[in-house]
Amino acid sequence: MTVPTITLNNQTTIPQLGFGVFQVPPEETAAAVSTAFEIGYRHIDTAQMYQNEEGVGQAIRDSGIAREELWITSKLNNGFHRPDDARRAFDETLERLGLDTIDLFLIHWPLPTLYDGDYVSTWRTLSEFVEQGRARSVGVSNFQPAHLDRVVEETGVVPAVNQIEVHPYFCNEEARAASIRHGVEVEAWSPIAQGAVLGDEVIGRIAAAHGKTPAQVTLRWHVERGDIVFPKSVSEQRMRENFDIFDFSLSVDEVAAISALDRGAAGRMGPDPDTFDYVPA
Ligand code: NDP
Repeated sequence: MTVPTITLNNQTTIPQLGFGVFQVPPEETAAAVSTAFEIGYRHIDTAQMYQNEEGVGQAIRDSGIAREELWITSKLNNGFHRPDDARRAFDETLERLGLDTIDLFLIHWPLPTLYDGDYVSTWRTLSEFVEQGRARSVGVSNFQPAHLDRVVEETGVVPAVNQIEVHPYFCNEEARAASIRHGVEVEAWSPIAQGAVLGDEVIGRIAAAHGKTPAQVTLRWHVERGDIVFPKSVSEQRMRENFDIFDFSLSVDEVAAISALDRGAAGRMGPDPDTFDYVPA
């Protein structure tokens, strides 16, 4: 099974399908990521906040897979937006992962109500990591159109990706469109809405027509819209199911029928980035 790649605006190529480890318990992460590697996943999405970067690093070392075949993403935790804190936190991420270079490092949340609304100096700090050759790419997560406009305008440095909540019940079209307008690839988090879309009648009907599961049809919908996805699962069977989405395609009408399930802001699973201000203790 060959996973398609997407070329980012800095000419690096990222596998369009990866494996996310949010809510994978730290002590189970190495085993889960090892299973994902065996299945064929080569792109892992972790974060400082998930407290499982060490497990990801362990699985990388155990795998014996050539470093250049892997794509590893992590994210800056919310308490570390000040430049010196961000530098220190980034050093610690590399150490926990056991890597000299990470493929992608993101500002996890913009936190516009904290740090005097200054996510711009945080963004400048992440650009240093690329200049130093310690990050191949840097990007943002949960950035609304105004946040993206501002970092691009004030720094001239365009993020490689914007990782945002996107699934059939919350298509997040304004943030997607702003990202695409800036040449920023969209990464869709909670791609199956943590399971909430899997009982949907429309998705179920399309799945039955293709002999696929609702999760496979939903992930395929993302792929056909051009977004990057990394569903999370701790079950080997579901990891395999989520990986097996490249032997069928959806019609234009089927893609449109799934997009029409959008409930706007009412469909969000996660917090609103304009007001989210959680800082872990
Ligand atoms: P997902 O949409 O990937 O859904 C995961 C849930 O669905 C789990 O409960 C899982 O259970 C279940 N599941 C997975 N596959 C199947 C399947 N085939 N059939 C039925 N149930 C299934 O949600 P996430 O929130 O985990 O999002 C994915 C990734 O996105 C995260 O792991 C993280 O990397 C990233 N993310 C980023 C955020 C950000 O702010 N930047 C926020 C949230 C997520 P089980 O494990 O038991 O299979």
